Parts: sequence; structure tokens; C-alpha cells
Amino acid sequence: MSGHKFLFSGLRWWISGRSRWMSKLHDGLREQRIASLHSCSPKVCIVGGGPAGFYTAQHLIKARQDVEVDIYERLPVPFGLVRFGVAPDHPEVKNVINTFTQTAKHTRCSFYGNVNVGKDVSVEELQRAYHAVVLVRTWKIKTKHRKSPLNKSLNVLFFWGGILWQSYGAEGNRSIGVPGEELTGVYSAKDFVGWYNGLPSCRELSPDLSCETAVILGQGNVALDVARVLLSPLDILKKTDITQPALEALTGSQVRRVLIVGRRGPMQVACTIKELREMVNLPDTRPEMVVSDFEGVTEALKDLPRPRKRLTELLLKTALETPGEKEQERRNKASRTWGFRFFRSPVEVLADPERSRTAGVRLAVNKLEGSGERARAVLTGEVEDVTCGLVISSIGYKSLPIDPSVPFDSSKAIVPNTMGRVQQASGLYCSGWLKTGPTGVIATTMNNSFDTARSLLEDMDSGTVDVSAAKSGSHIISSLLEERGVKPVTFSDWEKIDNVEMRRGEAIGKPREKLLTVEEMLRVARTVTEDKKQFLGKQSSCCQRGPR
Ligand code: FAD
Ligand code: NAP
Repeated sequence: MSGHKFLFSGLRWWISGRSRWMSKLHDGLREQRIASLHSCSPKVCIVGGGPAGFYTAQHLIKARQDVEVDIYERLPVPFGLVRFGVAPDHPEVKNVINTFTQTAKHTRCSFYGNVNVGKDVSVEELQRAYHAVVLVRTWKIKTKHRKSPLNKSLNVLFFWGGILWQSYGAEGNRSIGVPGEELTGVYSAKDFVGWYNGLPSCRELSPDLSCETAVILGQGNVALDVARVLLSPLDILKKTDITQPALEALTGSQVRRVLIVGRRGPMQVACTIKELREMVNLPDTRPEMVVSDFEGVTEALKDLPRPRKRLTELLLKTALETPGEKEQERRNKASRTWGFRFFRSPVEVLADPERSRTAGVRLAVNKLEGSGERARAVLTGEVEDVTCGLVISSIGYKSLPIDPSVPFDSSKAIVPNTMGRVQQASGLYCSGWLKTGPTGVIATTMNNSFDTARSLLEDMDSGTVDVSAAKSGSHIISSLLEERGVKPVTFSDWEKIDNVEMRRGEAIGKPREKLLTVEEMLRVARTVTEDKKQFLGKQSSCCQRGPR
């Protein structure tokens, strides 16, 4: 049999083989595309393989039959916060991964994981290689710094009261801007969430859960995710994709009481009703609220917009109503408690006598100025101390400037843009949390990503983005990366990781057991599967020459 014939029959065998081989063929087709350097297809590059990246790609590919999209992702694995943010006990939310996978497997879409844009390749290099570049969020926890060492506590009080906004910080810095924050037992929600969700950079966190009371600062959905994970019965958690080290730490956890602290009142909580209901119904827990926090709330209900009204009604019911017999019995039997604490801003994390770990948190008591969503917290001058051994700051996420060449508004932590068009930067777009700031659920991110895609398509049609000249796209970027020793992870490489994780999970009754280090992910991504070994073996024995 001639080499060609053998190759052909090998290819047929390959296609009729197992389904995962289809993605290999897809890679082959992709290479053909790379080879056709002079194709005039519009080439778009997306930085960030989270929801915004995949939704932008999906819309572009659907709307134009000729556009080719490459997604560059810093980690070897795709899906951003769907993998590393969404709580393990919310598996239904993660179903969006199926849609993202369809996009990634489209013949006009390629995924390049393990490429850190801004470090491995610059945005300017991407702009030279592609007709357009779309940036999505880059991670950073929202942090606070005091403006001046003078009058420290005043600054801190002002900032937590919402009067002084001095916010910046470095990635991974878990500063909350109050004295004592360096003590053992103080964590940022981003790190804590990253730890239980297997984010490689948070693997070593090992939070100390040996205390009875935990305080969470902030009352958004992330705060509620963290509270739920801390208090959930293990029977629930062990059927999720929470990492095994986190599950083991939670098994030994002594935390029995979680206080969720907000600087404003019940009518300003940032969580949504579904998440609040989950707390209310969490097995083996009972709510513990302060009745006086709800003064005047019942009277104000009638003027609230509907979603806020329903949320406030549930809060009122939980805090003030005498429960029915069955619910009372459930609450009496509960071994754990949770509750909101309103009108409170932290001013200091208190140390134990050895000054080695957290023993409590000092809270300033606030009152509200104004009403509704825009009400502002102002200090009353009173303080109170809460005993606790764990403090988790959950006051929101923040994007990082990706590259010095890209404009960045540090006060809003967004790339300044008009409908996704980066201001004063032709051919540069932004999507997702980098465009809007760190708020919004996946559906909101989807809509804002579709909007960015629409802006880009309009600009291609109008000629504002010139797609008439051929661009080399990933061809040139791959060469640059190779020169720099960076080996991207393709989507079919990710599928190997996915496979290993699912098999590991299956063995212990979980949907998935995540790989926890980048090294391990890369090792699995680069394994050659048995099927492929056989195919390559047949191919080389047939040809009997050429490099091995
Ligand atoms: P991300 O998801 O953060 O994706 C950005 C991607 O860019 C990441 O993969 C990152 O690794 C990559 N990246 C960063 N820097 C670089 C770089 N330099 N080079 C290349 N790539 C880079 N929404 C819901 O609807 N339901 C939920 O249950 C829910 N839970 C959440 C839980 C948490 C803890 C958080 C924080 C958010 C949650 N959300 C939830 C909101 C949802 O996750 C966001 O709306 C969505 O992920 C935003 O998408 P994005 O693509 O803008 O950002
Ligand atoms: P968030 O919703 O913006 O909540 C942040 C919380 O921190 C608010 O209570 C806010 O209070 C407080 N805060 C902010 N800055 C503060 C400061 N300087 N001092 C004191 N308190 C401060 O943020 P998030 O919880 O991180 O969530 C981010 C986004 O992801 C949200 O849109 C959320 O809905 C989404 N998400 C969704 C889910 C879900 O659907 N299940 C789960 C997790 C996250 P103020 O209101 O007073 O500013």
C-alpha cells in the first residue's frame, strides 16, 4: 500500500473511531486554515476564555460566514469564572459550558490556552496579526489602600463609610485596608472561592477553619456563596465538583456561625432572591437577624421596584415572622446559624493575645443618608466588636490593566469604551467585566458580549475596520510563542484534561475532580492518547523514514 493510501485509510479509521478523534481532525483543518496565509477572511482575536470571550466569538461566527476567531486564554483550561467562580453546588449554571464547547469546536474558532497576553505576547503584537482584537476581563481582587499613613483610622472609616474612594492594589493582594488584616484568618473572597474551586494560584491557601464564628464583609452573591459553602452539610458538598482538599478542610471545619456584614441596610443588600432563598432553606441552619435593623422597612416596601420588593419581603419574613410549626422544629434542630448584620463597616481586625491570629473584628456603626439604592452609609461614631476567627472580605472583584498600550480607567477598573469600542484605539474592542465593571451574571455578560460583537461587525461592514488586506492571525503569533518557549493548549488538549478530571471524579462519586496545578494540567494536555499512538505508529512504519 502506498504511503498516501495508508494515510487515507488511517484517516478513515481515525474518523470512524471514537468521538474524541473528531476534535483532532478539527485541529488538522485548523492547521490547513493557518497554512492558507493569504486568505482574506477577517481574523479576530479574543483575549480571555471566559463567558465574554465565548459569547463574543459565538456571535461573530454566527453573524458572518467568513470571520475566523482565535481565543487566547491565560490558563491551560477554558471557561473563566464558570469554572473558578460559580459555586460547586450550582451545577446547572455550569451547563453554559456546553454552548461554549460548541463554539470552540466550530471550524472557524480556535482556542489557545496557556497564553498570558501582556506577558507571553503583547496586545500590539496581536493587533498587528489580526484585523481586530477583543479584550475581556483580567483578574484582580478589589482592594483598598489607605491614602496616607497619617490619620489612618479616619481614612479607613471614611472609605468603608463610602465617602472616600481610594482604590487600587496588586493582584493576589488581599488587603481590606484596615489594621490587623495581615493576621492569620483574614482572606479575600476571590482567594477563598478560588481555593474551593481549584484555581491553581489559590491551591496553597489552606484557610484556618478552626473557629466557631466567621464574618463575611459584603452582602453580594459571592458573600452568600461563601457563607453557603462554609455551612453546607457535607453530604451536599461531596456530590459537587468542590476540590477534595477543600472538602477535607470543610470536614474538619469548626465554623458554626456565619455573619454577613454590610455597610448599608436591608433595602440595599446586593444579593439576589434565589441566593437568599438558598440560605433560608439551607439544611441544618437557622437564621439569626437583628430585629431593630428592620425598623421602617415594612413601611417602605410599597415604593420599592418589584425585584427589590420581593427580596426585601423575604428578608422581612426571615427576620421578623414567627415561623410555622414545621419550620420552627427545623430551626430548633439546626446546629449552625447565619445572619445579616447591617449598618456596619469594619475598622480593625482584632488579634488574639499572642497577636498571631484573628480574634475578632471591630465594626463602626453607620446610619443611612438618603434612601433607596443610592443611600449612603455615614458613621455614627459608635463601634462594636464581634468575636470571630475567620474574616472573608467579599466587596467585589476588579479588573487589571492588561497591557500599557491599552487605555484603562483605574477609578472604574474598566477599559473606557463606547458600546465595546475601546476609545481612541481603532480595531480594539472590549467585552465582559472589563467593559462593564465587575457586576452581572452570565446572562448579562452574554448580552454585553453580543453588543460588542455587533459593534465590531458594524465596523467591518462600514470599513472602519479594514478587512481587505490579509492578516496572518495565529500563524505569526504561534511562531512568536514558539520562539518564547510558550506552548499553547488547544481545545482538544483541554478535552484530555476534562476527561481525566471526570474519570477522577467518577471514581469518588463526584461529577469532576479538578487538576489543581498548571503543571499537572499541562502534563495531561500533552499526553499522547493510545489511539493516536497506534495511528502514528502505523503511519511511521508505513513510511519507514522521516524524523520520529
Ligand atoms: P471571566 O469569567 O473572569 O473570564 C475572563 C477570562 O480571561 C478568564 O478565563 C481569565 O483566565 C482570562 N484572562 C485573564 N487575564 C488574561 C490574560 N492576561 N491573557 C489571557 N487570558 C486572560 N453568574 C451567574 O450567572 N451565576 C452564578 O452562579 C455566578 N457565580 C459567580 C460566582 C463568583 C465567585 C463570581 C465572581 C461571579 C459569578 N457569576 C455568576 C458571574 C459570572 O461569573 C460573570 O458574569 C462572568 O464570568 C464574566 O465573564 P468574563 O468573561 O467577563 O470574565
Ligand atoms: P457585588 O454584588 O457588587 O457585591 C459587593 C458587596 O460588597 C456589596 O454588598 C457592597 O455594598 C459591598 N461593598 C463594595 N465596596 C465596598 C466598600 N468599599 N466598603 C464596604 N462594602 C463594600 O459583588 P459580588 O458579590 O462580588 O458579585 C459580583 C457579581 O457576580 C454580581 O453581579 C453578582 O450578582 C454576580 N454573582 C452572581 C452569582 C449568582 O448568580 N449566583 C453568584 C456570585 C456572583 P454596597 O452595596 O454598599 O456597595
